[in-house]
Amino acid sequence: MNESVWPYPIEWEKEETLEADILVLGGGIAGCMAAISASKSGQKVLLVEKGATKMSGAGGSGCDHWESAATNPCSKVTPEELTLAMLDDNDGFNNGISHYIECREGYDRLLDIERMGGKIRDKDDEFKGAAFRDEKTKLLFAYDYENRFTLRVWGTTFKPAMYRDLKHSGVRILDRVMVSSLLTESGIQGGRVIGATGIHTRTGKFYIFKARASIMCMSRPARIWLFSASLPGLCEFRPPQCIGDGHAMGWRAGAEFTMMEKSVGAEFSASGRSYPPYSTGNNHNTWYGATLIDSTGKEIPYADRDGNILRNTDARFRPSPGQKFFLKGGAVDNPKYEYRGPETLPFSDMIKKGYRLPFYADLSGLPEHERRIIWGMMVGEEGKTRIPVYRNHTESGFDPEKHVIQCYGTGWTSAEFLPNERQLFGLPGGFLNDWKLSTNLEGLFVAGDSLYASDCYGHAAATGHYAGRHAAYYSNGIKLSQPDSYQVKSEKERIYRPLFNNPESGIGWKELNMGISKTMRNYCGEIKNDELLSIGLELLAEYEDRIVPETYAYNPHELVRLLEVFDILTVSRIILNACLSRRSNSKPLRFTKNNYSGPETEDSGMLITVKQSDSRIVINKLPLDFYGDLKENYEKYNKEYLAGK
Ligand SMILES: Cc1cc2nc3c(=O)[nH]c(=O)nc-3n(C[C@H](O)[C@H](O)[C@H](O)COP(=O)(O)OP(=O)(O)OC[C@H]3O[C@@H](n4cnc5c(N)ncnc54)[C@H](O)[C@@H]3O)c2cc1C
Repeated sequence: MNESVWPYPIEWEKEETLEADILVLGGGIAGCMAAISASKSGQKVLLVEKGATKMSGAGGSGCDHWESAATNPCSKVTPEELTLAMLDDNDGFNNGISHYIECREGYDRLLDIERMGGKIRDKDDEFKGAAFRDEKTKLLFAYDYENRFTLRVWGTTFKPAMYRDLKHSGVRILDRVMVSSLLTESGIQGGRVIGATGIHTRTGKFYIFKARASIMCMSRPARIWLFSASLPGLCEFRPPQCIGDGHAMGWRAGAEFTMMEKSVGAEFSASGRSYPPYSTGNNHNTWYGATLIDSTGKEIPYADRDGNILRNTDARFRPSPGQKFFLKGGAVDNPKYEYRGPETLPFSDMIKKGYRLPFYADLSGLPEHERRIIWGMMVGEEGKTRIPVYRNHTESGFDPEKHVIQCYGTGWTSAEFLPNERQLFGLPGGFLNDWKLSTNLEGLFVAGDSLYASDCYGHAAATGHYAGRHAAYYSNGIKLSQPDSYQVKSEKERIYRPLFNNPESGIGWKELNMGISKTMRNYCGEIKNDELLSIGLELLAEYEDRIVPETYAYNPHELVRLLEVFDILTVSRIILNACLSRRSNSKPLRFTKNNYSGPETEDSGMLITVKQSDSRIVINKLPLDFYGDLKENYEKYNKEYLAGK
């Protein structure tokens, strides 16, 4: 390594041990909320974050809408109605527990963020009189203006507000440290989680964390199928440091996962194939309600769920005749008739009718409030668009009253992808949880996008707060344990090994990621069969045995990138094992196995769970509604919280 060009002190040989009652792993939305709520118990909380907590994670740079706030004063749906709709829309392949928590507590968390200094209301009356505004509360709503359970918010103000609150709450924040493994009692796979290890992303220093309870908040995997060595920062929808480290270390420790066989055709990844999310013309999410036109200026009509063409803009935001409410935004993809909202007529129909490419988003004819809420507030507050899209386009002279913005691909996807280019987008698999948001590993709780079938800001905030409370109840009666020295030593060897390899002949992190992604595209694409999946597993085992020992890193930054790719390799193996375990096709899981053409098997209506025990793969099945009655169980497990409200 050429240390002379590395701007930080190198501390490979240094080790530091830190103790806490509650250890929060990852400082995104779920992690911040978990730490804030755990600290209310008076216990010592340590939050470890790979980036800078103030702005890190998918929600760090913003969010434009807050979903499923069913308890806000203007909502016309109940938490039960909304959760049941989300479950039914996915034929039950959804997380009943976490989404009920989201629907029941999400609005309370939004009010918490407002108390911390986040902006959630139109206090300056910028949108006075708009159809999406409630004049009394000054709350703004998106999508379904009738039922009002999704709020438009100023998400760029949220993470800095949470960060200030973390500091006031006395939470110790350790930024720029990548958590690398979970420590278990006596070093046994499947044993109680007693802490974790980490490596400083700038100095390479090794950390040992000891805790009574830990909360996993490291988001979800990415870069499994899609990777561009020349555009690594734009490979996927979520930020590049969120690549599934948590899943990989959980797997190594014996945590149980479900729905890991689910992947969807790529929708948003850039990876050199598309433009960044929401930077092109579309009418999805941030841009919902925008008018789309073809290249001759002809408008593409919106229709209700019955195909009735909508004659005015306001109707784009109203349920169809006879429909109570509709679902839209975030993880909602091609909803069932019952929950389908207004939409532009399908792209393919338009082409058949002679509409001409390219299509464009045209905000010029929208009522002024609708134009300003999209171009201004929504595009200005959304995760990745504030600077590269809103500011740069504005500075380049884009005027939404005059100019249109081009669409690519076949709709709102920013590009067209190949069938074997897949993603964990929407509601993918993840850690299995119970009603305490505990994993199968005692002492390990889980929140946010790490959970199976999870998505969105409000969900992460609500489950983070909930997991923080339950971890605090648990840790009260628990003693700190001494880490197993062999487990610590092995982890140290694992993470520092690439430093001893020769860069001249070794393999770098980008090459390894490219190889894994290519393997997954070839052997775990849209159409799967057991032979393909088995070849994929064999190849990845070969990578593990032959290629990983040949990898090198020049400095702490490169080493962390490489450790991430080791985790991508582990996650790919979880996915292949899960795909092998499911025998028949499943529409809600977007899962197609062409060696199976018979009737549905007994696993069609079940969750399949995977974990390691004694380094062997253990497969189990679980009824989709294993969590029982939502309201009854929620109230049973949260008596103290409900009494304190
Ligand atoms: C472009 C974009 C726009 C979005 N818009 C919206 C929206 O408008 N509304 C909405 O509801 N949702 C939106 N989302 C989704 C929402 O932001 C996420 O669902 C939410 O942030 C999930 O919270 P989380 O805490 O689980 O994960 P994150 O907020 O991503 O936090 C995970 C944290 O873990 C850290 N981490 C990862 N690995 C490690 C490790 N090994 N060691 C230490 N730390 C680690 C990361 O650095 C990160 O800070 C958007 C997402 C994106 C990417």
